[in-house]
Amino acid sequence: MDRKCFLAANWKMNGSLKTNKELVLNIKEQITKLTNNKIDLIVCPPDVYLEQVKNLLDKDIEYIKLGTQNVSFEPNGAFTGQTSLDMLKDFDISAVIIGHSERRQFNNETDLDIAKKVYSVLKLDDHIMPILCVGETLAERESGETQNIIRNQITKVLDFLKEKNILDNQKIMQRLVVAYEPIWAIGTGKVATAEKANEVNRFIRELIQKISLELSDKVRIIYGGSVKSNNALDLISQPDIDGFLVGGASLNATEFVKIYSHMCN
Ligand code: PEP
Repeated sequence: MDRKCFLAANWKMNGSLKTNKELVLNIKEQITKLTNNKIDLIVCPPDVYLEQVKNLLDKDIEYIKLGTQNVSFEPNGAFTGQTSLDMLKDFDISAVIIGHSERRQFNNETDLDIAKKVYSVLKLDDHIMPILCVGETLAERESGETQNIIRNQITKVLDFLKEKNILDNQKIMQRLVVAYEPIWAIGTGKVATAEKANEVNRFIRELIQKISLELSDKVRIIYGGSVKSNNALDLISQPDIDGFLVGGASLNATEFVKIYSHMCN
């Protein structure tokens, strides 16, 4: 099965009107020579810059798409500081990062919150892709708990989708992207070896296989955690790594485009 590669830039809480403009223009300039329609390429700025980045991408939107770092599962109402999916849709977003470990840790997001968010995106008759992040801490890895943690995080979401009757809908479920992001590798410079990362990605695919073999062949399972231009090729060469979620290195146009250049040629 040929899965389209997937590369998403998570800018986190970084940027300004000035630096965003430089970054996007630099990415566009450097990437034009490499345009590869075998890659879904998404940039996820902070929400306040969605309009700016949308305008900067504009005519290139075909191959560089816009995403966000979070969404509320509530449709509207008295939820101070939250942003609804309908609001994000006004900016033609293509993807939403959901359940990033920083949101689980600093905003106390629970597996149920995350499941509700994934469902709120998937239930839309739309093209928007939820990027579901899962991953273990260093202590969990060292105590041999990795698979249990990942199984738990994934199962909570899949069970919720089953309850909502969309788990059997291949067309809907194919929009799901799962990002394996070991917490100990995020922003630390420590990368899971390509083989170790692939092992967990394969484990995630096997969990999806239990629902449907066909679906497990189609869902993109990506890796995140200190991906750089010097480890991207090794990681992407693994059979179960379909792309990357990139934090730090996505803030440097040259580095980010180098990662892109290693992908899916
Ligand atoms: C991330 O933010 O999802 C991430 C993987 O960050 P970094 O690439 O900086 O480790």
